[in-house]
Amino acid sequence: MPKTTLTQLKKPMQHLRGRLEDLQAAHQYRQRRILDGPQQPHQIIDGRRVLAFCSNDYLGLANDVRVKAAFQAGAKHFGVGAGAAHLINGHTRAHHHLEETLADWTGRQRALLFSTGYMANLGIAQALLGRDDLICQDRLNHASLIDAARLSGARLQRYAHADVEALQRRLQATQKQVLVSTDAVFSMDGDLAPLPQLAELTHQRAMLMVDDAHGFGVLGSSGAGSLEHFSLSQSEVPILMATLGKALGTAGAFVAGSDELIETLIQAARTYIYTTAMPAALAQATLESIRIIREDPEPRSRLQENIDYFLHIAKQQGLAIGGRQATPIQVLILGESMHALRIAEQLWEAGFMVPAIRPPTVPKGQARLRITLSALHEQEDIDRLVDALANFIQE
Ligand code: PMP
Repeated sequence: MPKTTLTQLKKPMQHLRGRLEDLQAAHQYRQRRILDGPQQPHQIIDGRRVLAFCSNDYLGLANDVRVKAAFQAGAKHFGVGAGAAHLINGHTRAHHHLEETLADWTGRQRALLFSTGYMANLGIAQALLGRDDLICQDRLNHASLIDAARLSGARLQRYAHADVEALQRRLQATQKQVLVSTDAVFSMDGDLAPLPQLAELTHQRAMLMVDDAHGFGVLGSSGAGSLEHFSLSQSEVPILMATLGKALGTAGAFVAGSDELIETLIQAARTYIYTTAMPAALAQATLESIRIIREDPEPRSRLQENIDYFLHIAKQQGLAIGGRQATPIQVLILGESMHALRIAEQLWEAGFMVPAIRPPTVPKGQARLRITLSALHEQEDIDRLVDALANFIQE
C-alpha cells in the first residue's frame, strides 16, 4: 500500500477553514470565554471581574451551599459516575426518588430522567412519531425541538409565533397523527406561549408537548412551572419536558406524563436507552434544589422583584424591551448583528456580560441582547446595567 503523505491527509478537512472564514465575515463566529469560579452574578471571566446578566441559574441554586452539600453527600454514597445506562444498572435509588418527586410536584402520573434537555426533546419526538406523522411547532421553538422533528422523520410544519389560529388551520387540514410542541417561555424572546389556548385546541385532536426549560422552578404558585402557572393538568398537556440545569441549578432533564407515555419512552426513546445515566449525586443535589424551592418562596419572590424592577427602570430610561412579560428572560432587539455585537462589546468593556444573540439563532434583522435576571442580582446591579444600556444605545 502506498504511504499517505501529510498533505494528502489534510485534504478532506481543508474546506473547514473556508467555512470558518465565511462565518467570521458574516459576524456569526461564536467564541467562548473562560469562567474562573462558580456561577453567580459577580464573576471572573477571562481574568476580568464582570457583572453577568446571561446565566440561566435564575434562583442562584447552582452555587447554593445546601445543594452543594447534597451533591457531595451523593458522591460520597454513590460515587461519581453512574457507570451505565438506566436500563442496565445506572438507575439508582436517588434517580428513582427524584423521578417520583418530579411527578408529584408537577402533578403528573410519572416522570423520567434524561441526561440533558436536548436529549429529552430528541427522544420524545423519535419515540412517539414516525415518517407518516406530522409535527407542528411554533416558529420560535428552541433548536433542540427542531432537531427532534428532523430525527423523528415526521413531516415538520412551523406555525407563526404564538398564532393559535394558524395552528388550527394546519390541524384542520390533516388526517395524520400530530404532535404539537412549543416552548413555554421562549428562550430567545422571554414571552410565554398561549398554553391554555393551545391545550384547548389540541385536546382530543393532537398530542401537546410543552418544553418548560425556562419556566420550571420559576413560575407557578409552588415553582412547578408554566403549567402550574396556567393550572393545566396532565389531560390538558399530556407531555411536559423541563430541564434541571437552569432554575434548579444542577443538570439534566425530565419528561412527565402518563404511565403509557413514560413506558413508551423507556421502551423506544434511543436517547434514553443508549446513554449513561446522569450521576446519582446530581439527582441528590436536584432533590435538594426542589426541597428548597418548594419550602422557601423567598428566592422566587426576589427574582420576581428583580424582573419587575428591571422592567420598571428600563421603561423609565426609554429602552424598548421585547415582550415585557414577567419572566427572567428579557430582550432588547437591536436589528443588525453588527449593532448588537458592538453594544455587547461596549458592555463587556464596561464590565458587564450580556450576550448578543444573532441570526441564525434569531430571525434576520432581529439581532438582540438577551438579558437574564437572577434572584441574586441586587437592585444596584440592575441600576448599573440599565444606565450602561441607555448610555451605549443613545450614543
Ligand atoms: N429547551 C430549551 C427551551 C432550552 O432553552 C434548552 C437549553 N438552552 C434546552 C431545551 C436544552 O436543555 P439542556 O441544556 O438541558 O440540553
